Amino acid sequence: MIHSIYSNKDVFLRELISNASDALDKLRLESLRGTDLHADTSDLHIELEVDQERRTLTVRDNGIGMSHDDVVQLIGTIAKSGTAEFLRELKDAKEESKDAAASQDLIGQFGVGFYSGFMVADQVTLVTRHATESQGTRWESTGEGTYTIEAVDEAPQGTSVTLRLKPEDTEDHLYDYTSSRKLKEIVKRYSDFITWPIRMTAESTNTATDADADAEKDGDGEAEAEAQTPPEPEVETLNSMKALWARSRDEVTDEEYHEFYKHISHDWTNPLETIRMQAEGTFEYQALLFIPSQAPLDLFMRERKRGVQLYVKRVFIMDDCEELMPEYLRFVKGVVDAQDLSLNVSRETLQQDRQIQLMRRRLVKKVLSTVKDMMSANAEGYATFWREFGRAVKEGLLDDFENRDAILEISSFASTHDAEQPTTLRQYLDRMKDGQQHIYYVTGESRSIIESSPHMEAFRAKGYEVLLLTDPIDEMWVGSVPEFDGKQFQSIAKGEVDLDTEEEKKEGEAEREQRQKDFAELLSWMTTTLSEQVKEVRLSSRLTTSPACIVGDTHDVTPALENMFRAMGQ
Ligand code: ADP
Ligand code: MG
Repeated sequence: MIHSIYSNKDVFLRELISNASDALDKLRLESLRGTDLHADTSDLHIELEVDQERRTLTVRDNGIGMSHDDVVQLIGTIAKSGTAEFLRELKDAKEESKDAAASQDLIGQFGVGFYSGFMVADQVTLVTRHATESQGTRWESTGEGTYTIEAVDEAPQGTSVTLRLKPEDTEDHLYDYTSSRKLKEIVKRYSDFITWPIRMTAESTNTATDADADAEKDGDGEAEAEAQTPPEPEVETLNSMKALWARSRDEVTDEEYHEFYKHISHDWTNPLETIRMQAEGTFEYQALLFIPSQAPLDLFMRERKRGVQLYVKRVFIMDDCEELMPEYLRFVKGVVDAQDLSLNVSRETLQQDRQIQLMRRRLVKKVLSTVKDMMSANAEGYATFWREFGRAVKEGLLDDFENRDAILEISSFASTHDAEQPTTLRQYLDRMKDGQQHIYYVTGESRSIIESSPHMEAFRAKGYEVLLLTDPIDEMWVGSVPEFDGKQFQSIAKGEVDLDTEEEKKEGEAEREQRQKDFAELLSWMTTTLSEQVKEVRLSSRLTTSPACIVGDTHDVTPALENMFRAMGQ
């Protein structure tokens, strides 16, 4: 199964290096925090090693490592969702569409980064030791659903992943992962920005190992031993290690940004938008943020992670720094590197930090303005953005008072104007009819239900556009947001909706009074008869074909909210 899903096998190396880099970040962080470690943090690095004879490639790091339980949990099953489920989903996805992209999405969602090693290997061996433990673990599998696991006494710090390369790949030189040229190429392409050195010992040193063994056998005199000492193996660092966010825009290609995004987000698709920021002066920082092109499955789950990492002077401090991005922009991924914070910052101190708050304000404004620019520069991109993240963004209308107008500006809503395309509020205002006073909306469960509601009749007759708000979150914000650009939001299902213009009013005044008189008796009879059900029965000008409709008071909760409360047992 594993062979068929990837379009480009080379990315297995990116995945293993990405894991190694994360492990080094974690170890450095533990040592900064003063955790008691059985580990040396003086030369943290990643190492690639090829054994030509055995046709293996090893990716080694001296990072945090894994405990026995970690290995079972993290490596033993494909992500936490389990192998069986993954396979079933993958099969379904394949049957539904022959689309490679669909299966790529699945890989991203299930996080089979480590398993991508099986694209090029028929056996994977992992040896690891957690930095707080003295015992190591050895795990081995041929990638067919089973594995062996055992404790080992002598395990070096960190993790090594050894791939026994498939013979067919080694012969096909496009995929010869024993070739140092090939490996260099892949590292340059996918992992250049990794901030840890990725080292490789030059191929010529394979023979040095033999010379070394010989030297031990027959050398006993000091001078002789020295003469026979093999040359230092030539170690080469393959990546530039330059933090991408610290390089100037024109120095970095889009592809590099995209690879970086994949590294930090664990996503497999390119981002929709890349945002760079650089602030100089008293509080210096750099930010490199991304808007993904797809919402994660857990966007609306409580335990979900927020995606902005905090660095201080190039040192990784924390994942998922919620002080930098509000809840409603939780899908934004990226890195913020601050120059003037202490390496010992904790979540608690961050919350108090005024500079962090200032930074957060700027980041939020920048994200919102980027989306606004996208609306004109890349309409299709904006449509994707709104489809994927709109529901989350609208949460900001409830709690980000400062940016409320900016959020409304980038919001889109279904409307009676177009059955397919949502509209922005700006576009709505542009289409408002002469004499139209308000932005009309109706909330409800679905478009089809609210479109057939009798409340719509008068608006349809008048040609007034009505926003159709069907997300649960719409119920929440629309009551508390009074207006957009000077126009008030007005529910069509509440209170007296006065659709007549001044002239129509004057003309109709006498007629209305007459009608009111004619029907007075009937109305009061109906009000008494229906007193259990309704507060008042009124003559209405809002209906054209239906005989009657039920209207809420201006300050009543909407029927949908009423249902919600009822469902919650209130
Ligand atoms: P992801 O990186 O998206 O979490 P992976 O399949 O790549 O998914 O890795 C699964 C988990 O295994 C990682 O989250 C990490 O906890 C652990 N892991 C993998 N490689 C290493 C490594 N070299 N050192 C320490 N832990 C690792
Ligand atoms: Mg990974």
